[in-house]
Amino acid sequence: AKKADRNTLRFFDHKMQDAINARAELEAELHKALEHQQFELHYQIQVDCASRALGAEALIRWNHPTRGLVAPAQFIPLAEETGLILPIGLWVIETACAQLHAWARDEKTRHLVLAVNISARQFHQSDFVAQVRAAVQRNAIDPNLFKLELTESLLLDDTEKTVATMNALKATGVQLSLDDFGTGYSSLQYLKILPLNQIKIDRSFVRDIATDPNDAAIVQTIIAMAGTLGLDVIAEGVETEAQLEFLDLRGCHACQGYLFGKPVSIREFESSLGQSSSA
Ligand code: C2E
Ligand code: CA
Ligand code: CA
Ligand code: CA
Repeated sequence: AKKADRNTLRFFDHKMQDAINARAELEAELHKALEHQQFELHYQIQVDCASRALGAEALIRWNHPTRGLVAPAQFIPLAEETGLILPIGLWVIETACAQLHAWARDEKTRHLVLAVNISARQFHQSDFVAQVRAAVQRNAIDPNLFKLELTESLLLDDTEKTVATMNALKATGVQLSLDDFGTGYSSLQYLKILPLNQIKIDRSFVRDIATDPNDAAIVQTIIAMAGTLGLDVIAEGVETEAQLEFLDLRGCHACQGYLFGKPVSIREFESSLGQSSSA
């Protein structure tokens, strides 16, 4: 039995060493990814309940030379731990603002709102508001068309400071959306004091709205509450006509999900817009 234990231990040692090596390798590659311009933004359409384009959410992808297109779940957590999320996040903001600048020059795209995801660590940097303001000014965009998606994890830290930063962001003219709503800690209390434009109902509630009475009740309540507070509400992960119909009937303003389109490259996104507007 002792020998077997030793073998088991050795097995775990190897496994752990492999995991540590893989992580170190990923981290080293992540460092190089920015300078080698391996990141790209994909765009997922956001629509009103009549399926008209309102804008898009920009979602990062890592175009790795050998691994191919790497999803954010594979590297954002490591980027957050190592602090690399700061330069990466800045690149996302700059790239999105440059895209809005390009859209402003075309009648077909000039009304589109572009949303980006902001990590807690990025949000809490002392010069975050200045970074956003600078990107908006450098690209000469209408700040109202630029939206930051924040998560409730921000509130875990210093609520007063978080609210002050959000107010400063709001003063620059950008829009603020609370992502993954319903999964975290936000109470009605917070919703009242946060200077939000929008809440985004998490996909986990949307999935079964057409079949699960509990989820249906939760989503209906969130939409009604948003209305009372004067907030826009968008549902994420909308995949079926039945979900869309439910949301539309309850007065949800906007939807995002595979029913309308997956996240795609900028070229595909723009050509899909052309198709729907000429239809
Ligand atoms: P998220 O912000 O909640 O983004 C929504 C995720 O759901 C995206 O996954 C999107 O592709 C996926 N999705 C959209 N519609 C549907 C649908 O109808 N059904 C299903 N099953 N999934 C759908 P993605 O692109 O893999 O991104 C995952 C997460 O990575 C994001 O979750 C966000 O938290 C993070 N992320 C993505 N881009 C960035 C970024 O630029 N910066 C930061 N800090 N985080 C990012
Ligand atoms: Ca998001
Ligand atoms: Ca989300
Ligand atoms: Ca989510």
